[in-house]
Amino acid sequence: MKTPKLIFIVLISLTGFISFGQGLNDGPYVFINKTNLIQKNIVEGKVITKTLERSAFPKTYPAEPSVFLGVEKIAALSDIHGQYDLAIDVLKNNSIIDDDLNWSFGKGHLIIVGDIFDRGPKVTEMLWLIYKLEQQAKQQGGYLHFLLGNHEYMVLHKDLRYVNEKYLNVSKLLDLDYDKLYSNTTILGRWLRSKSTILRLNDHVFVHGGISQDFLSKIGFDVEVINETMRVSIDISKSELKSTDFYTNYYGSTGPIWYRGYFNDHLEHEDIDEVLSKTDSEHIIVGHCSFDEVIRVFEGKIFGVDSSIKKGEYGEVLFIENGRHYRGLKDGTRKEFD
Ligand code: ZN
Repeated sequence: MKTPKLIFIVLISLTGFISFGQGLNDGPYVFINKTNLIQKNIVEGKVITKTLERSAFPKTYPAEPSVFLGVEKIAALSDIHGQYDLAIDVLKNNSIIDDDLNWSFGKGHLIIVGDIFDRGPKVTEMLWLIYKLEQQAKQQGGYLHFLLGNHEYMVLHKDLRYVNEKYLNVSKLLDLDYDKLYSNTTILGRWLRSKSTILRLNDHVFVHGGISQDFLSKIGFDVEVINETMRVSIDISKSELKSTDFYTNYYGSTGPIWYRGYFNDHLEHEDIDEVLSKTDSEHIIVGHCSFDEVIRVFEGKIFGVDSSIKKGEYGEVLFIENGRHYRGLKDGTRKEFD
């Protein structure tokens, strides 16, 4: 009786292997070696490895600037969560990219207010698209800002609870934990470590969760300092981060990547005015809290740009031009907030 049982087990594991490998396409993941770069792609469930010249990608990515002034055209969206196809539709219809997925927003600044990672199945595609558009934008005098949200920090700190099953299979095939695909010895990992958490554009502040009164009272507000502190925290272990107040202040529920207070805490106008005054801003733009559309609260002092793209059905962009704010609908129609 022993042999058939063994065959059965082997068969089961084989089918398991085939089913997770079949039709699986992903990549590239580019690993940095001393002398060269190793690129790995998953094609139909098989790992295709290629050696690249050291010069194929830049290996250092300088920290992004935190402040930009005099920007005339701004667009923002957030919480794409692996919904690459929908994000492309929204960006195309709103003339931020063209039909060939190239930058067509000229000197405009596009801000992705966090949470590309987790939930959906096309995170890698989205990251490489942003990587490409970022360079194209700069060449045209524009800018693409990818701010890190709580889900970026979760993955980088190996909290893999929301990772799409596809990537668990990718990580099995590559024989590396998923967070290691974004370690400091990979191209995308180094690139992610150059990103900011908070950005000031003109009199607008952009941040995934928000800036709370609690955070302001404990940490204050210096965008450069917040960005550098968050950047450094990526390669410090969670236990070390938790050994001081740091974790609660920066990664806690009133910290910049997790805060939901503007929508959930029944704040008064005076509370928001205090935050605006301490951050020396007129408007704060956040993601993280999902709504059916781009929303405006506190008479336009706060905008929420998480329009539930994560559901894969509908999404919007916030446009800011000449001091006016518009919703850019999925079909490209613009609606001004009155
Ligand atoms: Zn979030």
